[in-house]
Amino acid sequence: MNTDITGIHHVTALSGPAGQNLAFYTNVLGFRLVKKTVNFDDPHSYHFYFGDRGGRPGTLITFFPHPGFRPGVAGAGEVAATHLAVGPGAIGYWADRLKAAGVDAARQSAGGQERLRFTDPDGTRLSLVEAAGGPAEGHAPASDVPADQAILGIASVTVVVNRLAPTAAFLTDTLGFRQVAAEGNRAWFEPTGGGDGGGPDDAGTAFVAGVPPLEVIEVPAAPRPVLGVGSVHHVAWRVADDAARDRVRAAVDGKVLGLTPVKDRSYFRSIYFREPGHTIFEVATAGPGFAADEDPATLGTALKLPPQFESRRAEIEAALPPLEANPS
Ligand code: ZN
Repeated sequence: MNTDITGIHHVTALSGPAGQNLAFYTNVLGFRLVKKTVNFDDPHSYHFYFGDRGGRPGTLITFFPHPGFRPGVAGAGEVAATHLAVGPGAIGYWADRLKAAGVDAARQSAGGQERLRFTDPDGTRLSLVEAAGGPAEGHAPASDVPADQAILGIASVTVVVNRLAPTAAFLTDTLGFRQVAAEGNRAWFEPTGGGDGGGPDDAGTAFVAGVPPLEVIEVPAAPRPVLGVGSVHHVAWRVADDAARDRVRAAVDGKVLGLTPVKDRSYFRSIYFREPGHTIFEVATAGPGFAADEDPATLGTALKLPPQFESRRAEIEAALPPLEANPS
């Protein structure tokens, strides 16, 4: 059993219009746009990374804007919801803030946690959950969200599968997660890699204490999802470095579908595969991070392209929709 995964690295979803996505995550939720780049597999669409001030792994939610693409349809074999951590007592602030922004939100209890559920303008399912603790100094520099109410990072994701047992076995026997709770058709898992307890290899990455980062719900009759606007494409788990990612790759090889070679995403280096319930997992290195090609003070302000596209910059920039000035 491998134990290199230490927590969530990021969640990636498909959005509608780029400007609407940018405005919601920065102006309403108070994230910082920490990188404005393109889809490395399709440079004519943006890839936005939102995170805390430094864009630390564990605080990141990223989007491929695909205006005009079909709406996603929920099903089994995908991330059904992404839960954002806030500090103790912050839910009330967010209930008021979301209402003022015209966002419908509803309280829900799950696994002993109070959640405030809502969707973004494209239907991506989100919630805010109060976490026991986490880094509070990293809020976006120009956000009007008070520092003590700011979103701390990605607390957890909910994955829906048709059958819980194969996914649970893979998580515990291969990826080094442990099941920490179960209730009805739900079970909660956390990595044993030590990251969320502050492991020695986890320096510089964000973490959220007190919330198991993975909730799995068994829904036997759920159909296959249809990927579209509002869908989460994958959840990325973080590891310390390339050697750790290679150990995870060796551990899952032969046990998963769609295992990829290592992909250089400029800010981290990753592999992708489908867990037995078909949800796409990425395993991403904590570094090199978003300061690799941009000053930490001005993250997200320039369109950054990977080296293979730099010679096509003029053509790529002309094809991308214009955006308002970076509000963060
Ligand atoms: Zn990713």
